[in-house]
Amino acid sequence: MSPNKTAVVALGGNAITRAGEEDTIYRQFANTRRSLDGIVELVREGYNLVVTHGNGPQVGNALLRCELSRGKAPELPLGVLVADTEGGMGYMIEQSLQNRLRAENINRPVVTIITQMLCDEKDPATHNPTIFIGQFYSEEQAKQYAESLGWQMKTDSKRGWRRVVPSPVPYKAVESETIKMLVENGTIVIAGGGGGIPIYIDENGNYEGIDAVIDKDLGSAVIAREIGAGILSILTDVERVALNYGKPDQEELDKVTLSEIREYHHQGHFPAGSMGPKIEAAIKFLEDGGQLVTITSLDNAYRVVRGEAGTRIVPD
Ligand code: ADP
Ligand code: MG
Repeated sequence: MSPNKTAVVALGGNAITRAGEEDTIYRQFANTRRSLDGIVELVREGYNLVVTHGNGPQVGNALLRCELSRGKAPELPLGVLVADTEGGMGYMIEQSLQNRLRAENINRPVVTIITQMLCDEKDPATHNPTIFIGQFYSEEQAKQYAESLGWQMKTDSKRGWRRVVPSPVPYKAVESETIKMLVENGTIVIAGGGGGIPIYIDENGNYEGIDAVIDKDLGSAVIAREIGAGILSILTDVERVALNYGKPDQEELDKVTLSEIREYHHQGHFPAGSMGPKIEAAIKFLEDGGQLVTITSLDNAYRVVRGEAGTRIVPD
């Protein structure tokens, strides 16, 4: 049975900022335009799409701007910075895709939705700081910020002290009904940027931001489940998921089942912070009724669906 033709396509960091390149907005736009080939092929083949994306370098830059303007412009909480990058990067992807679709005579609306992700206040992961963000500091500076701004600080390798924030597990996107409605009507929706803005419901039933960041692959899996997508398509900078990655006996995976990938994950083939979250997102999506997860490089977004490239993970 082939999966239904709604896909959530998660763009990795390299779609917009590439390692070793000077990071300018001109480059970010150029990379974004080049990243669209695979997505446009899916559009041509009649898929309904949500596009999600990472924001690591961009939110790092936003934090640096806050740092440099401290005392001159108001402090901004992390949630607002994530929202800013969802807007700014959403604009870049949206406009690039609109221009490309127009050039190819494809008439599909594109829109960006700032997405809030509900997290469980009682889940320990919501409070446990595990992710380094922003600049490196001396021990003295680190202590100052811990006191004045309430940041949690830890040493990161030998380069100094850094801020650490939790990476809560999202369970629902506030905007998912709207996203679903738009997608079902053929609109291409850019949503869940940077994993979405982490929030919780407070004792009065109000939404409240959390100073944390959500993994973009986990956020994408939540959106995919909620809109009833058949496919979660994770686009990164490797063509296939591998066992024994980077070792002489490396073995690339073509088609694997949910139980097989679970077993490989238990064996430790997929490190936290890179392939690990993608595999966890894949497992979650398939457990929740998803039909196909694809993991491959940007250009192969459509070929992987046809089984001609990349790694496909399927239900048992
Ligand atoms: P993205 O920005 O797309 O999320 P990441 O850097 O977080 O990219 O994850 C992709 C990276 O994961 C690849 O560049 C690769 O170096 C690394 N990786 C780690 N383990 C594996 C594995 N088992 N198979 C393939 N790639 C792996
Ligand atoms: Mg990543």
